[in-house]
Amino acid sequence: MPYQPTRAYAREQDRKDPLRHYREQFYFPQHKGRDVLYFTGNSLGLQPKSAEDALKHELEHWKNHAVEGHFRGEMPWMEYHKFLQPQTAHVVGAKEEEVVVMNTLTTNLHLMMVSFYRPASGRFKIIMEAGAFPSDQYAVESQVRWHGYDPEQAIVEVAPRPGEDCLRTEDIIATIEQHGKEVALVMFGGVNYFTGQFFALKAIAEAAHKVGAYAGFDLAHAAGNVPLELHDWGADFAVWCSYKYLNSGPGGPSGVFVHERHGNNPELPRFAGWWGHDEKERFLMRKGFSPMKGAAGWQLSNAQVLSFAVHKASLDIFEQATMTALRAKSENLTGYLEFLVREINRENERFHILTPEDPGARGCQLSIYTHHEGKRLHNYLEAHGVISDWREDNLHGGEVEPGQAGVIRVAPVPLYNSFRDVFEFAALLKEYGKRKEG
Ligand SMILES: *Cc1c(COP(=O)(O)O)cnc(C)c1O
Repeated sequence: MPYQPTRAYAREQDRKDPLRHYREQFYFPQHKGRDVLYFTGNSLGLQPKSAEDALKHELEHWKNHAVEGHFRGEMPWMEYHKFLQPQTAHVVGAKEEEVVVMNTLTTNLHLMMVSFYRPASGRFKIIMEAGAFPSDQYAVESQVRWHGYDPEQAIVEVAPRPGEDCLRTEDIIATIEQHGKEVALVMFGGVNYFTGQFFALKAIAEAAHKVGAYAGFDLAHAAGNVPLELHDWGADFAVWCSYKYLNSGPGGPSGVFVHERHGNNPELPRFAGWWGHDEKERFLMRKGFSPMKGAAGWQLSNAQVLSFAVHKASLDIFEQATMTALRAKSENLTGYLEFLVREINRENERFHILTPEDPGARGCQLSIYTHHEGKRLHNYLEAHGVISDWREDNLHGGEVEPGQAGVIRVAPVPLYNSFRDVFEFAALLKEYGKRKEG
């Protein structure tokens, strides 16, 4: 049935949604006695109701067993990272040994670049998307400098063509080919945080390998949002955080993927710590690092059990819901938002959607550009119980008045957002336009 711009239609879609009950597993902030319209799961996911018990369980374990907690119970802390591996592997399309949860995202990006960015003999360039998340830009720039290279020469950014908002895969591949033997690493986001574009990661990995470079991905906006097949795509490494789509709370731990062809190579240089050491010998406390097989061989420290417990509670929900079912709902739900924005535009071209139209080239987020209504519209939405994200226009440099042009990023998350949420959001957009005319 084609989309319809009515509340009755949205209600009917929610009634038919096989994932509708997952919404009840999350806490929504309240606005005037009602759930807010929450569209910032791309920034901080909602709290799963199961998180509190999971956390309490570990606090009790600590209270009752203290140091013995490392060895006792169903989930002894010694082994804790292993209890997150299966669900993590399913979220990113990996073998269990290829993933591990540890540290935080930017830390892990540095650790991965220690292993996978080792410039030598004319091969020193890093290719990345223009407008990458700042932390990634700083990580890449500082790695380049640390190796004694000039970021101006070593970092090659692929930008959209003039007049376009997103990158063309052909341009990414052409850039990789053009720099050929000079490319050490192709470091791309999975989904760009600003435009919401989901890059063609398989094609990018293949192009990188063809010129003899490594391919690494930052999946902060991709993990738990879009279908990933890291193993089959042949990515060399990937990193992501868990507090965005993965709902594991502020500062939640990061995930790491290392392809098995590297994970089983103990010779690969890395920064090491005792938790990455062969677990059979770890407590012999001897000299000489011998890494665990797989991604676990990059661990530095013992598990951050309290934050891992919350992460596990959330991952268990993904395990039950499955990425396949979530993706099917996500395409439909984001498609509905797009349809409703277009309906508004039919009367008066108020919005421009930066995110690709092709559902295969985006996740759940739509980045909605407004020329004139800007911050005032965003404030209006906020006053009516919408939580969404506002970014000033960074595309047209000083030409526009501050606060007028910018992007509202809206992420309808399939786990807990409804068609009704999307409808009410669009109704507010429409109402604001009417109010101004009147
Ligand atoms: C959110 C995000 C980060 C944040 O990094 P932390 O180390 O978790 O603070 C980094 N990179 C990207 C692409 C992000 O989206």
